[in-house]
Amino acid sequence: MIPRREFLGSLSAALAFFAIQSAAVSCKQEKKRSKMILSFYLDDTNPQIVSSGAFRQFTDYCSANGIKGESSFIPGYNGKSIISDHDQNQADYLEYVKEAWSKGIDSHMEIMTHNTLFDFETGTRNESGIHEGLWLHEPSVTTQEYLRYFRNIINEAEKAGVKYTGLTWPGCGCEACTKRYAELKESGPLKITQSAFEALLTLAREEKFRNRVLPIFYEASETEYGIHKRIADGRYGVYDLMPNAMDHFGIWENSPSRVNPDYYITEDGKSGIIVKHLENNAPYCMWYMHWQGLNPEKGVGWEAFKTVSQRIDKHLSDKVIWMRPGDIVTAYHDAGGWDFTNKLK
Ligand SMILES: [Zn+2]
Ligand SMILES: [Zn+2]
Repeated sequence: MIPRREFLGSLSAALAFFAIQSAAVSCKQEKKRSKMILSFYLDDTNPQIVSSGAFRQFTDYCSANGIKGESSFIPGYNGKSIISDHDQNQADYLEYVKEAWSKGIDSHMEIMTHNTLFDFETGTRNESGIHEGLWLHEPSVTTQEYLRYFRNIINEAEKAGVKYTGLTWPGCGCEACTKRYAELKESGPLKITQSAFEALLTLAREEKFRNRVLPIFYEASETEYGIHKRIADGRYGVYDLMPNAMDHFGIWENSPSRVNPDYYITEDGKSGIIVKHLENNAPYCMWYMHWQGLNPEKGVGWEAFKTVSQRIDKHLSDKVIWMRPGDIVTAYHDAGGWDFTNKLK
């Protein structure tokens, strides 16, 4: 796996403009928010590296503790769709993904394979060629092509009874992607193409997603964060909802040196990024995690995740509210801003 976020560090300057806008929004709000929203994106979730029971354990824990967030569902992660062809472990996983929403967890397309494009005719991943994350950035890809591909993924997931809620960009630091991303950056800040957003909006309008309004996980920043409308039409919209806290639950390396519950909230409840965002009257504190580090079976971050949730319960239960990303962007879209956080109960 690749140091996605480090590779993306160079992007933050391009996002500074948005940061100023977001800061302005926070400062203007004089009335204290009733609650700050808590949420997360969980990337790379799959039943290959650990048993499917680990995913059920995760969603059960979230459900039992009122925790809400999002987890990727990548049907072609191992090269074939586990929906059309699966062993018992994969079949169980599909059941648990189907139940995830009722337990507080949204499901994002981190696209079909998190690798090369999927060939829906043969039912297998292309052996070579462009990676999905980069393909989302290619100016030559048409809205129709995106539409066809997204629709195929949605239709495939539907066979397993899973409804998607949004899209996560699958990061990649392979040689081909790195080279092409560098070329694309020469003509301006890196971004998912507007054609891709148009295709997503079309599918949202057709109510192919669970919600009318879709969250996108593209980039994160502790300071230059915000929510950015990419496209909208009446009740429907697509928003880049940026995490403003990082992964300190082991990351994709499942590395003990990358585990630190105090980063989120210290034992005494007095510091950590959640507390800091609360003090700054931020509308939300949202982080991202990776299944490799977070999973309850082999993940070095699982105990830390539980510790953080217990500390939140102990110190902040009257100040924060867990929400799924899909519900956050829908509320934001309908209210035309963050004012709805003044009334959260
Ligand atoms: Zn990923
Ligand atoms: Zn790549």
